[in-house]
Amino acid sequence: MPTATRWSRCRRRGRRKLIAATLPDIVSTPVNKAEGLNDPSLLEPADWEEFRAEAHRALDVALNFVRDRPQEAAWEETPPGLKVTDKELPVHGQPLGEVVNAVQRDVLPYTLGNTHPRFWGWVNGSGTPSGVISQAFVGAINANMGGRDHSPMYIERQLLAWMRQLFSYPEDASGLICTGTSYATLLALAVARQHALGESVREQGNGGAALVAYCSEQAHVSVSKAMEILGLGSRALRSVPVRPDFTLDHAALDAMIRSDVALGMKPFAVISCVGAVNTGAIDELEIIGQICRENGLWHHVDGAFGALIVLSPELRHRLAGIEHADSIAFDFHKWMHVTYAAACVLIRDGELHRRSFATSHAYLQGESRGVAAGAPWPCDYGIDLSRGFAALGIWMLLNEMGTKRLGEAIYRNCRQAAWLGQQVDSMKQLQRLAPVSLNIVCFRFAPAGLSRQQLNRINRHIVVTLHCDGIAVPSFTELAGETAIRVCIANHRTRLDDLQALLDAVIEIGARLMTAGLEGEEFDVSTH
Ligand SMILES: *Cc1c(COP(=O)(O)O)cnc(C)c1O
Repeated sequence: MPTATRWSRCRRRGRRKLIAATLPDIVSTPVNKAEGLNDPSLLEPADWEEFRAEAHRALDVALNFVRDRPQEAAWEETPPGLKVTDKELPVHGQPLGEVVNAVQRDVLPYTLGNTHPRFWGWVNGSGTPSGVISQAFVGAINANMGGRDHSPMYIERQLLAWMRQLFSYPEDASGLICTGTSYATLLALAVARQHALGESVREQGNGGAALVAYCSEQAHVSVSKAMEILGLGSRALRSVPVRPDFTLDHAALDAMIRSDVALGMKPFAVISCVGAVNTGAIDELEIIGQICRENGLWHHVDGAFGALIVLSPELRHRLAGIEHADSIAFDFHKWMHVTYAAACVLIRDGELHRRSFATSHAYLQGESRGVAAGAPWPCDYGIDLSRGFAALGIWMLLNEMGTKRLGEAIYRNCRQAAWLGQQVDSMKQLQRLAPVSLNIVCFRFAPAGLSRQQLNRINRHIVVTLHCDGIAVPSFTELAGETAIRVCIANHRTRLDDLQALLDAVIEIGARLMTAGLEGEEFDVSTH
């Protein structure tokens, strides 16, 4: 018998004995029916009806969470006992019901709050109840969206065709559903690099080419990260000054391009902001596109949240010129409220996109029939081979709501921001720090007689207090050195009463801090 042979060999070589004793050779040991290789319930329920009852209870827990979250605090800190990472790795499992209980007890009460009506921090989507259902189907199907011929691939393709249609892109433009605008921008700039350096860049790398790109100083950090990852370096990303409305100053852009060319640099791309992260400013796409065409540069649009105003008939005119851009990156998980993570990149030149990522490995070769058919495969348009089925949640939400309701939710947030801006302007103690151009309001508590430093400290303290007391979640940012309370309304659950509550709380906390300050405290928030 093979095992016996092996044993004797091991006895002769004393050192390997232990290995042979503890690791029976799984290939050569005769298979015994009593091993349970016919047992269907290894990772499946032993009793489907019992499992179904547990699953229905879990679904109720999830739905109740979505329904009741607005009545809870906007945020509650995770207790210290749950911030630990020293729990034992589970070796023996437990019934699903126990695991659901743990989620209900330890996770649900301490979530970020972005499903709450008073969450306006950073840019977060607020999800929808039906997201619970699409996630269930994603789990049921467990599609791998790298390629091959199966119905989920046609859902993603339909979705991309709809996106082309929304942005008036040509039919041979390509796209990919991906995890975020950071990822989408990285892909787009990789294609832009290939556009500038030719196909040889895939084999030879950048080869010291002095490529430079341009974006406004208000652009998102993901643009600079993409430059780093592409091996071009963040210094090769020129920061173009903005005008008083925080949009890119295109006269300055034009001058910077000329000066770089004179210095022997090779400008290759301009990244426009549609919805700059601090203020919501929308760069002038027509003019920037014109500058790009004149100089042979790639025009990429970072429309992470802003590009979705394409869904609103009242707002979409502000995207004029986006249809000429070479690429567009945007998120579904922000202002369209699709469950994280779901984003999209569109590339006007679909063939260049494919040539920037396609590979030809034997084990990934396609066929004209069977499971290996269905070309072209998404894995030839990006980095991932295995990909999740985010497209389903987007497709289901579009089918459920239609573009009309989703666009209304976006428009409503802009009107709410306008209202908030008007309220701020009407209140003596408050000061607006940027124009309200979309869904973001930047303002501060600004009583007379405080220095800039004191104003900055007191406003940071106000935001932290709003969080810690669970009242609301704005974030803060800096505009020309001034700390602003930043309210980004990408939340379909927000009502005017919520924004009124925010204003009342800011005034109340500010007044309290002023009194404390008069008693000698220096609004010191350094301890937070
Ligand atoms: C959020 C955001 C990004 C990054 O998108 P992710 O989906 O978080 O990767 C890029 N640009 C802007 C303007 C954003 O708001």
